[in-house]
Amino acid sequence: MRAEVIAIGTELTSGQSLDTNSRWISAELAGLGLTTAFHTTLGDVLDDHVAAFQTAAARAGFVITSGGLGPTQDDLVREALALAAAVPLIESAECLEAIQALFVRRSRPMPERNRVQALIPEGAEPLPNRTGTAPGIWMKLGSSTIACLPGVPSEMKIMFHEQVVPRLRALGLASGTTFIRKINLFGKGESEIEAQALDLTARGREPEVGITASEATISFRIAARGETPAEAEKAAGETARIILDRFGDLVIGEGDVDVPQSVLVALQSRNKTIATAESCTGGLMSAMLTSIPGSSRSFLGGVVSYSNEAKTAFLGVPRDLIAQHGAVSPEVAAAMAQGAREHFGVDIAVSTTGIAGPDGGSETKPVGLVYLGLADASGVKTRKLELGPDSPRDVIQRRAAKQALNWARLIVSGEPG
Ligand code: ATP
Ligand code: MG
Repeated sequence: MRAEVIAIGTELTSGQSLDTNSRWISAELAGLGLTTAFHTTLGDVLDDHVAAFQTAAARAGFVITSGGLGPTQDDLVREALALAAAVPLIESAECLEAIQALFVRRSRPMPERNRVQALIPEGAEPLPNRTGTAPGIWMKLGSSTIACLPGVPSEMKIMFHEQVVPRLRALGLASGTTFIRKINLFGKGESEIEAQALDLTARGREPEVGITASEATISFRIAARGETPAEAEKAAGETARIILDRFGDLVIGEGDVDVPQSVLVALQSRNKTIATAESCTGGLMSAMLTSIPGSSRSFLGGVVSYSNEAKTAFLGVPRDLIAQHGAVSPEVAAAMAQGAREHFGVDIAVSTTGIAGPDGGSETKPVGLVYLGLADASGVKTRKLELGPDSPRDVIQRRAAKQALNWARLIVSGEPG
């Protein structure tokens, strides 16, 4: 069964406010086994409402709208529905009573204008709204079913759960449930990862697997359907197992877990501590780690050593070393990591030094060149990243910070827990 979600209001089409209702509704519908095939957004124009309702009813088995049910001139849903279905509007005694009762509860006289909210197309069923004045509407439009809800998100959500879901279930339009699992990976590009997962992301596969990327973290989103929650969860689990086995240590965690949290989990399970020494990332690694509650158990501290003097004064990087190789060099990255490890007395320390741009690049050291250092009990290693030359400064910084923390995760995870 395909669904269409319609958001109504000139404030949405004009760019004044963002349509968050449609996103919420589509996610809820997915959980009920209905696929949203169309999102439509309409300004407050009567003819456009009528045309959109008719189009939607012709192409989707279930249509759901939000907004346009208020008492004002620009609330056109009632009238448009009646025109689209070619039926008159009639006053619902039940609705009028509910609206009057609401004003009594709020100790205010009911403005005459609110009476229009009791109008519904002939043959339609009103949907009670226990938190606002605008009742919703449920009716058949052609062979499709249409549900109209108010735009106020809190009212819309309550009515969706209390009024829409039971009706969809009763009609057999909604069946089963969906179980979602999101598995996050870091360390390879989206296309490279997808190339290894074409069997999973193939169209029509059950459970469905989607792939998305955010700040170099690649996520697989498994949406498994089942008649019962347990059945859906089991199906998601089988696909998750394939992903976990196939991608091994690229997997950093599930749900909202990103690199910083995954390195902390790896450290905590082995009782290890970490410190950072940052130049081009300017404290981002520390900020990322400390944004995670409980990070104090593993993260002891960091130094933002932006100038050459600071690298020497706070991390003990020899002046000569900087003079000889330049601040952006594997030698300095190594000395920074070692200095931080000694200073903080931690198990593992990571460092960054590089050229974040947009200026300061050269032929031999272009924008985006970053060296990472990592010091642990086995010694010190370095890595070279090429994140430019055209990436914006903040992208280079964030990538470098995540790469460094991810390297620490891999090193720590490789050790016995
Ligand atoms: P009311 O009876 O409260 O007037 P209504 O059905 O007429 O309800 P609107 O006037 O369209 O609803 O919207 C009321 C408020 O709800 C808007 O000011 C807006 O803040 C919010 N809203 C409406 N539509 C959306 C949407 N699609 N996404 C997010 N918020 C919305
Ligand atoms: Mg309104």
